[in-house]
Amino acid sequence: MKTIGVIGAGQMGSGIAQTIAQHGIDVLLTDRELAIAEEARSQIERALDKLVAKGKIEVADAEAALARIKAVGNVEPMAEADMIIEAATEKEEIKQAIFEDAGKVLGQDAIMASNTSSIPITRMANWSPDPGRFIGLHFFNPVPIMGLIEVIPGLATDKDVTDRTMAFAHHLGKEVVLSQDEPGFVVNRILLPMINEAIFVLGQSTASIEDIDLGCRLGLNHPMGPLQLADFVGLDTCLDIIRVLHETTGDTKYRPAPLLVKYVEAGWLGRKTGRGFYDYSGDAPVPTR
Ligand code: NAD
Repeated sequence: MKTIGVIGAGQMGSGIAQTIAQHGIDVLLTDRELAIAEEARSQIERALDKLVAKGKIEVADAEAALARIKAVGNVEPMAEADMIIEAATEKEEIKQAIFEDAGKVLGQDAIMASNTSSIPITRMANWSPDPGRFIGLHFFNPVPIMGLIEVIPGLATDKDVTDRTMAFAHHLGKEVVLSQDEPGFVVNRILLPMINEAIFVLGQSTASIEDIDLGCRLGLNHPMGPLQLADFVGLDTCLDIIRVLHETTGDTKYRPAPLLVKYVEAGWLGRKTGRGFYDYSGDAPVPTR
């Protein structure tokens, strides 16, 4: 692959663009407005500078990676792209409009991928001009650091498109898990019920925030406790995913914990808003209950 279009320049899109550029592929990065994509490119520049300062990459490699990223105002310049990766806000109407627009300009061979956490790939594929070239490509946050990508073919995805997408994911230096198009794919299907259960445990005052996270860190040998991880993912994102699991399966084991709903309604969404199960306003996170 020579050129990839990344649509949506938030925390995931920026990380995806940086990772692709660091692996020698040109990136066209866009968002709702050119200014957002340009700011994301500046943030990537700062992230690359930090890697240089820590001695993790050479100055020349950082400069070369940045030079490969071009911020653009819309999908029009993506006509020549070998692939697009959509990483926009997790709303069906937004993603549908993106694939309808991009579908009009892309070449006949271009792969259309989505980084969605929860929307069925088979449904999304029908928003594109060719469901055979549509696939799920689920990165993990922060993208430059996390070593995994899930690849999710939809019902209509061509085998050749799955093979090319897996080869691309390996080219980025990631391990790949191939998942069928089922709610939550593999990792979120397992993770979200654990996070949700931890919030039930907190809501029933079985243990404190600190003890729930300590118990899982030391008792399960996880690097991060589930409440800390929920703050990191974003509590709104956690609620969206557990709701999709609940609605699509109808299984009550996925019903959202009432305390999770309350936190989202309060606007306490985790690290990104400065408060979730922990308060992030000081030097170190402090439990809020
Ligand atoms: P984010 O809010 O940081 O970024 C979303 C970006 O999409 C914003 O910059 C927004 O301006 C942009 N956007 C909105 N409408 C757009 C449009 N019409 N055209 C182009 N850009 C548009 O969100 P995020 O955490 O980066 O999540 C993006 C996607 O990645 C979602 O589908 C999410 O489910 C998925 N995802 C998130 C995580 C995570 O841990 N946060 C992990 C894996 C996948």
